[in-house]
Amino acid sequence: MTIHNRISGQFTIIVASILIGFSLLIYFVSATYRREEFYERLKSKARTTVRFLVEVKEVDHDLLRIIDRNTLTAMIDEKVLVLDERNQLVYSSVDDHPVRYQPDLLDAVRRNKEVETTNGDNELVGILYEANGQRLVVLASAYDQFGQSKLANLYLTLVWGLFGGIGLTVVLGFFFAGQSLQPIGHINRQVQTITARNLRQRLDEGKRQDEIDQLAVNFNAVLQRLEQAFEQQRSFVSHASHELRTPLAALKSEIQLGLRRPLSTDRYTEILQNLLFDTDRLIALSNSLLLLARTLENLEAVTMTSVRLDDVLFAAQEELLTSNPDYIVQFQYDKPPETETDMRVLGNESLLIRVVLNLLENACKYADDRRAQVRIGTKPQHVWLSVTDTGIGLSADEQTHIFEPFYRAPAAVTYEGFGIGLAVCQRIMEVHNSSIRVESEPGQGSTFTITLPQF
Ligand code: ADP
Repeated sequence: MTIHNRISGQFTIIVASILIGFSLLIYFVSATYRREEFYERLKSKARTTVRFLVEVKEVDHDLLRIIDRNTLTAMIDEKVLVLDERNQLVYSSVDDHPVRYQPDLLDAVRRNKEVETTNGDNELVGILYEANGQRLVVLASAYDQFGQSKLANLYLTLVWGLFGGIGLTVVLGFFFAGQSLQPIGHINRQVQTITARNLRQRLDEGKRQDEIDQLAVNFNAVLQRLEQAFEQQRSFVSHASHELRTPLAALKSEIQLGLRRPLSTDRYTEILQNLLFDTDRLIALSNSLLLLARTLENLEAVTMTSVRLDDVLFAAQEELLTSNPDYIVQFQYDKPPETETDMRVLGNESLLIRVVLNLLENACKYADDRRAQVRIGTKPQHVWLSVTDTGIGLSADEQTHIFEPFYRAPAAVTYEGFGIGLAVCQRIMEVHNSSIRVESEPGQGSTFTITLPQF
């Protein structure tokens, strides 16, 4: 069942139930009022008749009958009977059509003083009249033609009103459900045209106000992220193949050189050394690519613990100096930590070591003095670590690109590297809800600062 049909069906059922409920209420309340009003009229008729009969001596039965039939308020098929204690008829307003009643009705009237019941189509009341030692039962019955015909008219009006109302509800429900679902249909048609090849396409966001517009806005945000991910993947593959091609081409030409003609042993040794150098570069590159791919893939699932940022620095420093003994790392606290918890952040120790190691390595690599100066400090709810060097520096434009995978500033291409480290660092900092930023002047040096929330 389509949502369109379901909504219009539910709408119809709800409105129809309300209409039926109200109609029933109106009908039964009106019927009750009519009955109560008519019983009151009958009781008043019964009381008047019996009072005339008992209290006004001048009125005999025949005169009373004439009065009964000719009063302005006389009702249709009106009959009044008065019976004594032995159930003997004392007075009847009609001769020919006596009121039929169950014998126990008279006992019920004597017991309850008043009884309201029906007699065929007629309404019937019985009242007990006690005066001058007499206990008379008065039965009054009549047909409420006026009330019944008003009720029948009301019934017809309600039935037709109901049919009309429900019919109108079906039509309007269908129409309005269609109207409200139209934007969804519109979005649906647009979504159908989006494929992996045209992720640039966006949904119409309307005035960005109602829920459907919000759906389109959110869907567009998802498309944007997907497009970025696709784009990153595409550029990753093209950059990776480009990076691989250069050392592979060098390998090939070295091999071709070695095969062209017989060479001296020294020349072969030189060629083999070149081959070894290029192979090492290839291994390093594939390791970096693997690292990048793994880091980008698994970062969401890493476990975070409370880590001291100065301990992270010491671990990174040790690792750096083990592989590069000529590098120098100078360290100082911005302000000596007052408590043990000052330097604590919530993070993954090995990932944070990788970030700091990369910053130290770059600082030493791109500076002639091979020296990195590290400072660690705190600011409200945060701990920061900065790595400063006096190396080649970066222009403002280069600073905007250095966190992109494979980007290398022109001045850096003569140094070893693949342009992957900072991209990994930035991703790791994102996972830590932290930031990494750079301040630099070309030829003067650079300062990279990471800031993490205190634990
Ligand atoms: P790699 O150093 O292997 O090229 P990175 O991702 O670590 O890769 O750095 C990307 C680029 O950012 C570098 O190629 C270089 O141009 C620039 N860069 C990074 N650190 C520094 C630094 N300390 N001084 C100058 N340039 C830097």
